[in-house]
Amino acid sequence: MTPFKNIVGQETAKKILLRSYDKNRLASTYLFYGPDGVGKWAVAIALTALVNCLEPLKDADGKTTDACGECINCRQILNLTFGEFYPAIPLPPHKSESEAIELLNEFIQQKKKEPYSIISSKRQTTISIKTARDIKRKAAIMAPPDMTRVIFFYQMEKMLTSSADSLLKLIEEPPPNTIIILTARDPDNLLSTIQSRSQKIAFKPIIPEKIEEYLTGRSDLTEKQAGLLARLSEGSIGRAINLFGDDDESPARQVAFLMFKTLIQKDTASAVATINELINPRNRGETEMVLLNWQSFLADIIQMKFGKDTKNIINLDLLSELEILSAKFSDANSFSKFVAHFDEFNRSFRLNVHIRPAITALVFNLRKYLNQSS
Ligand SMILES: [Zn+2]
Repeated sequence: MTPFKNIVGQETAKKILLRSYDKNRLASTYLFYGPDGVGKWAVAIALTALVNCLEPLKDADGKTTDACGECINCRQILNLTFGEFYPAIPLPPHKSESEAIELLNEFIQQKKKEPYSIISSKRQTTISIKTARDIKRKAAIMAPPDMTRVIFFYQMEKMLTSSADSLLKLIEEPPPNTIIILTARDPDNLLSTIQSRSQKIAFKPIIPEKIEEYLTGRSDLTEKQAGLLARLSEGSIGRAINLFGDDDESPARQVAFLMFKTLIQKDTASAVATINELINPRNRGETEMVLLNWQSFLADIIQMKFGKDTKNIINLDLLSELEILSAKFSDANSFSKFVAHFDEFNRSFRLNVHIRPAITALVFNLRKYLNQSS
């Protein structure tokens, strides 16, 4: 398996990097930006392999097309064990250095298994000052001359401003044989000095057909299920994966289902209270994921009510519970109003600044369409 070929979509990003590589004009700092789960991680790993590959692949015109994926460097890089790859990853709060290492390893293992996965934490994650300083210290030691060191700051927006200072020094005076890769959802959330000193590469949402293909290639989803997930995921493979992941892999989905059940089964007051307790008002991405999961539960209920067979149900493990919930929608008219209101809310949620009041209002409004007598 060769790393660039494995990347879904992102043709522009790939082209820019391969062309710069051939011209020997790679930037010292890259900023990959775009939505979560569209391949920033995968491209960063592919670039690390390319610059360290002992025998890059070329086409008939002599243009480089990929890293070989087989030489010793490629294999270590794809295995995420390469010594000159320094990742800085946002981590939840931890008490000790050994706990931090454990959390980092867990993260790396998940990314190794599924490079597109969006790893969520119930707690706020940050790139700590210590991580930034450690990397700066390591970067001060020269990289081996026959290798290119890659310093990789993943999800830069989760870096504390105080830690960004150490990074800034590094970007201003990039060490030899080193490439710095930064990723972010939105570059405007980063310090302007960081923005202006890096070459920005945009990552776009992926078309549903490609997501569908990726999903069917990696799971036993039916074409219909994969197609539905692809449409729900708004161009993000990571989101699509989070939507069908089994419970062990996707605690976020479990929590989202708990909230969904509360919304439908409890009275309005306890639904509002429970959902407010479970939602993280400081994390928009996480809240969007909850809403996306709700959307997939609703899609399943629609299938149960109007579809012909259960083959197209996404959340098969929740089938019996979803059946109980679907009985709560006693008349078709209220159900379609419920779905319409929810869709409308989803469309405008991105523009909504205050997560908690928005979700509270949503719960109140949706409750109106439920059979409240039972
Ligand atoms: Zn290679």
